[in-house]
Amino acid sequence: MTRHIVVIGGGYSGLAAALRTARRLRDARVTLVNPRAHFVERVRLHQLAAGQQLREHPLADVLGRAGVDFVLGRVRELDPDDRRLVVDSLEAPMRYDTLVYAVGSVADTNAPGVTDHAATVAEFAEARALRDRVATVAREEGTVAVVGGGLTGIETAAELAETYPRLRVRLVTDGKPGATLSERGRSHLLRSFERLGVEVRGDAKAVEVRPGAVRLADGDAVTADLVVWATGFGVPDLAARSSLAVDAIGRVVVDDSLRSVSHPDVYAVGDSAVVGHTDGSPLRMACATALPLGQYVGDVIAARANGKQPRPRRFRYVIRCLSLGRRDGLIQFVDAHDRPRERILTGRTAARFKEMVVRGATFTARRPGPYLPWR
Ligand SMILES: Cc1cc2nc3c(=O)[nH]c(=O)nc-3n(C[C@H](O)[C@H](O)[C@H](O)COP(=O)(O)OP(=O)(O)OC[C@H]3O[C@@H](n4cnc5c(N)ncnc54)[C@H](O)[C@@H]3O)c2cc1C
Repeated sequence: MTRHIVVIGGGYSGLAAALRTARRLRDARVTLVNPRAHFVERVRLHQLAAGQQLREHPLADVLGRAGVDFVLGRVRELDPDDRRLVVDSLEAPMRYDTLVYAVGSVADTNAPGVTDHAATVAEFAEARALRDRVATVAREEGTVAVVGGGLTGIETAAELAETYPRLRVRLVTDGKPGATLSERGRSHLLRSFERLGVEVRGDAKAVEVRPGAVRLADGDAVTADLVVWATGFGVPDLAARSSLAVDAIGRVVVDDSLRSVSHPDVYAVGDSAVVGHTDGSPLRMACATALPLGQYVGDVIAARANGKQPRPRRFRYVIRCLSLGRRDGLIQFVDAHDRPRERILTGRTAARFKEMVVRGATFTARRPGPYLPWR
């Protein structure tokens, strides 16, 4: 009987995994399930929030050309003991022989008042809703407070400040913004924020969002007409509600070949898997991680189906790319384990470089070809 491989999630890792599997295993049936008809370039969601139009990439076209079936729907339940899943758009449960779990991540909203009084930028619908709210606040020359000094918070604050010069943008973060950058990288970031008029409130741990303000751990408050909460990512609870082995936040625990440690028919990849370097140090939730490992998972599945040993996983980081609006950016060179080197690229060159990387990521995700970082 034809082997059925189902991929849940059509983001960077899921799309790459589906296309690679279909290319390597010509006699298998591959199905991808995703709740949106289009591939979402998640790394551009801060651009969407700032009012830019994103290009649409219909999944049915990309997958159809590769012979992969597309199901538009959301997986509501997963039963890995019975190799079965429930999709909201299908009447009967879907069965699989091999599953790739690639549902990505969601905004971490785990603080009082966030879900009621703050906006987020981690998913398409949220970023689109934020776009409309920001436009209203900008028209009234009001204030937006972006909470979170990681890459998502930084890119969002910079993009909003550049797009709406009359909007007051505040970045609130515990520690320093861009704490994982090199000294030179951080200096460039602070200069860019100054140029864009972004007010930085560092060493300020936000503990609660109330209407019109962010409350800090020291009892102080930062006022804002709109709060954008960007302190990090959590994951959908689908795996945690099943019998799959997951970590404390619900990511699937996998071995070096990205196979679930509890269910050998299941692989997990991208933000929704706990993946480390082969020496055990963690990989970050990033497109830079999700995409190459999505392709790797396709190779592993194909190798095992053909009775072969999968090749060992090789992975290294090279750069971290930040956009600081459309005319400035920061390319931070890093070592294999993502630790910053002193070398950086800045300004328009970096902005153009980042744009090239983002386009390259979408180009790569849509094709089953090779990807360099783990070669
Ligand atoms: C604003 C922003 C900027 C970013 N910038 C960068 C950057 O510059 N560089 C970088 O490396 N990373 C960046 N990231 C992080 C990056 O986007 C993610 O790490 C990456 O998208 C993870 O890929 P993934 O395949 O795991 O998940 P995703 O790309 O999120 O894809 C997951 C897919 O699964 C689908 N899904 C979810 N639940 C279900 C379900 N139950 N059933 C079916 N489908 C489901 C989702 O709809 C989605 O299509 C950024 C993120 C954001 C929000």
